[in-house]
Amino acid sequence: MIITFIGTGEAGDHRRRNTSVLIEYQGREHLLDCGFSSAMGYLKNGKGLLISIWVSHLHGDHFFGIPQLIVSFYIEKRQEPLHILSGADCRQTITAAIELAYPGLLEKIEFAIIFVQLEPLHPLHRFGLDWHCAMVRHSQPAFGLRLQAHGESLYYSGDGKTTAEAARLIDGCDIVIHEAFSLTPLKPTHSSIEECFALARELELSVLVLVHINRETRKNLEQMKRLKQPPSTTRLLIADDGDRLRL
Ligand SMILES: [Zn+2]
Ligand SMILES: [Zn+2]
Repeated sequence: MIITFIGTGEAGDHRRRNTSVLIEYQGREHLLDCGFSSAMGYLKNGKGLLISIWVSHLHGDHFFGIPQLIVSFYIEKRQEPLHILSGADCRQTITAAIELAYPGLLEKIEFAIIFVQLEPLHPLHRFGLDWHCAMVRHSQPAFGLRLQAHGESLYYSGDGKTTAEAARLIDGCDIVIHEAFSLTPLKPTHSSIEECFALARELELSVLVLVHINRETRKNLEQMKRLKQPPSTTRLLIADDGDRLRL
């Protein structure tokens, strides 16, 4: 798996794109979340082999880029189906967003949009990957995702605090990409750097990548040093737009 961070920001950070992660596996691309500023990032970085989009939850900074991708694929005369996977029931909302952005577009496109709703804790095998989601604690239904293939595994939190079910998915993953909105726990519906560090100690994470850090927290990231740290065996990365990792 090759992992490219299309975006690493939260909803209002004008210095970076909305958090969005591109996975390349066996010559196919999968995009984890696609906010309003992520679509252009995909079009710039992707190779045009996108077959699926994972939507962690229905906040604009995680799915409002989808109408832009659909119109771009229409212009390119795409024929291959596009799958939209989520733990949430997102067909109606995403279809309405596309219709609102480009009325009539859905009747004109020459490719199918296939919505797949995953049942939490019931893995789905598709595109050579195991997709496994669990609910996290956010202000609306939101799901963390474990993607696994041939002994390689990654976890992507989307927005929200880790739940016991999500922690079970995280356990043993090679790479954990987690939102860390604030330095210390401030909100009941978002995670923090301190909580991510605690998770790294508890589950002895190999690689912890922090994304979706609030723009104010980012200005003083050296304050991380005063927190109880992850174990020395955890490789900690604060991802920037365009960063790449290989599994
Ligand atoms: Zn968000
Ligand atoms: Zn959100």
